[in-house]
Amino acid sequence: MSENLSVSQASAVGASLAVDDTPTIRLEGIYKTYDLGEVQVHALRGISLDIYRGEFVAIMGASGSGKSTLMNIVGCLDKPTRGRYFLDGKDVSVLSRHDLAKIRSQKIGFVFQQFNLLSRTSALENVELPTIYAGVPPAERERRAREALARVGLSERTGHFPSQLSGGQQQRVAIARALVNNPSLLLADEPTGNLDSRTSVEIMDIFQRLNSEHGLTVVIVTHEPDIAQYAKRAIEFRDGRMKKDVLIQNRSIAAEVLPTLPSPDEDLVQGVENPNGSRNGAAH
Ligand code: ADP
Ligand code: MG
Repeated sequence: MSENLSVSQASAVGASLAVDDTPTIRLEGIYKTYDLGEVQVHALRGISLDIYRGEFVAIMGASGSGKSTLMNIVGCLDKPTRGRYFLDGKDVSVLSRHDLAKIRSQKIGFVFQQFNLLSRTSALENVELPTIYAGVPPAERERRAREALARVGLSERTGHFPSQLSGGQQQRVAIARALVNNPSLLLADEPTGNLDSRTSVEIMDIFQRLNSEHGLTVVIVTHEPDIAQYAKRAIEFRDGRMKKDVLIQNRSIAAEVLPTLPSPDEDLVQGVENPNGSRNGAAH
């Protein structure tokens, strides 16, 4: 990333993306220490960071560097030991877990590496779940869930169970679930960690479209530099500290990359028809 811009330039451009001066995410001196009795694990050691509306940030760093700890705090799944977190200008570091859960359900969509779908539940029902917690009227839930599935290109798979979907399709269901309450912030912790390279680019295509067409703020964790190239800004963690904060140069555009990749059909043996008429049906 030597050709990338310096930290101060990155912050300046980050600020210029803002529609107003309030960052979507403002972290001030965030520490997280896990107390394991005999030892204390210092997972985050003073993180200060602003992320504005419409940004697309990739968080990188070695295993154990604190990426997931940060995402869980930003996603209101956990609280910092010390420091302040402002979400859309509101100090959420002082809120109870109950109030955090409420904010999370209104503002934040979270996507995990392992998809975390309920296995005996259809795609449609998986996507509907967060609308129940958010108190959406029953008549409205299914409509919203179908709309979210359409946004990730899965209108034809609403009745399928996770085991009947490929890994990429399962992750798209998980993205639809994250979108169903219309969050302003989409967080994804290693969303392509379990996917092959073409499927990973398809997922990045969805994130890029949500970011550019719907103005959604996107923050992903990845350890793959190729995947970080699809973001607009890259932050690197080391030992619980931020080591780098740069703008991505020569950003990859998934919609341009996809046609250059072998399509899944080309993996099939030429001239031999699949006896089931289906392919890639199992999770991988
Ligand atoms: P990353 O996502 O970058 O791999 P994590 O945020 O998961 O890193 O972990 C950062 C550090 O905190 C690691 O040393 C990890 O072992 C430790 N850690 C994470 N979660 C817990 C926990 N619930 N209890 C104790 N230690 C934890
Ligand atoms: Mg992690």
